[in-house]
Amino acid sequence: MATNITFTIIKPDAIAKGHTGKIIDQIIQAGFTVKAAKLTYLDARTAGGFYDIHRARPFFNDLVSFMTSGPCMPMVLEKENAVADFRILIGATNPKDAAVGTIRNLYADSIDANAIHGSDSDENAAREASYFFSAVEIF
Ligand code: ATP
Ligand code: MG
Repeated sequence: MATNITFTIIKPDAIAKGHTGKIIDQIIQAGFTVKAAKLTYLDARTAGGFYDIHRARPFFNDLVSFMTSGPCMPMVLEKENAVADFRILIGATNPKDAAVGTIRNLYADSIDANAIHGSDSDENAAREASYFFSAVEIF
């Protein structure tokens, strides 16, 4: 059964370019509630652990370098059908394929620097949220 929680990270490229406020506003306007958020710097171990599923992929080292290149903003979001609706809001992984008006269409430059993460399943949303936040922080 679908839960109402998803997890996102506003990635370092979007923070560095000053898009944080616009992205959060777009998320809220789309009906999501921010349950937890923090501005943080990932070290290589934390970023690598987060993307552990991609460890064997050729782009893994570049992905970790990118995610540690500057501050990012992990957030827990709530909405009915959160995981699927948020994937629609952010658009395709490669911004070249992202639908017009999606966050990656508006703010991402490339498949590497693609502005934002969104969980791909309820199980991963729960795992990812608990990777960055304790239960008491997600009030
Ligand atoms: P994310 O998990 O960040 O929300 P996603 O679920 O759309 O993105 P994944 O397949 O989980 O895509 O890949 C994780 C991240 O790894 C992507 O956001 C992207 O930055 C990077 N990535 C994925 N595929 C490639 C690729 N072929 N070349 C370079 N980077 C890639
Ligand atoms: Mg993914």
